[in-house]
Amino acid sequence: MDYLLEVLKAAIWDEQPPEAPKWNKWWHRNLSDNHCEECLKLHECWFEKEKTPKWPHHPFCHCVLEDVPYNEVLTKSTSDSDYGKFNPYLFNTEGKYPHNKEKLFKEWGYTVTDAKWLQSEINKQGLQKYISGNYVLGKLNKDGQRISIRIKIPRKDKAENVSFITGWMVYPNGKIQLITPYGGK
Ligand SMILES: [Zn+2]
Ligand SMILES: [Zn+2]
Repeated sequence: MDYLLEVLKAAIWDEQPPEAPKWNKWWHRNLSDNHCEECLKLHECWFEKEKTPKWPHHPFCHCVLEDVPYNEVLTKSTSDSDYGKFNPYLFNTEGKYPHNKEKLFKEWGYTVTDAKWLQSEINKQGLQKYISGNYVLGKLNKDGQRISIRIKIPRKDKAENVSFITGWMVYPNGKIQLITPYGGK
């Protein structure tokens, strides 16, 4: 759901505005010397209520969930990616990767000259979808909680869009960082 759009519509039609989405902040309390790596990685990370990692995370998990006001989620969340994920990685400009992803993008009309645009477009859509709760929880381990987000871009050869999955890591205080620019259809 695009919350801001719904608020705007309600204002235009003089209707009751929708209730703000509920978000959680994971809070790892330091109650023992025995720190679980997964819970530590989740500490201060923000998740939409229905898309929060399993909590309590395990027996004797001391973590708590706190509310995050939705205006904080809307205004303070950020997305980031390394340019290296696009050049050389995705467009395989050094010929080092056997993934063939660059061929797929070429079919859609994209080459390394589009790397900067693609990076900023993926950052933009990724953030937008994250704050809309439009993500899927992925693997959680000692490195952190992964989420996947579907991105849509126009094909350059015809008037159609293509969409694909991108992979992100969740960091504290609403930050997501791109780990996989193309993770499948
Ligand atoms: Zn734990
Ligand atoms: Zn815990």
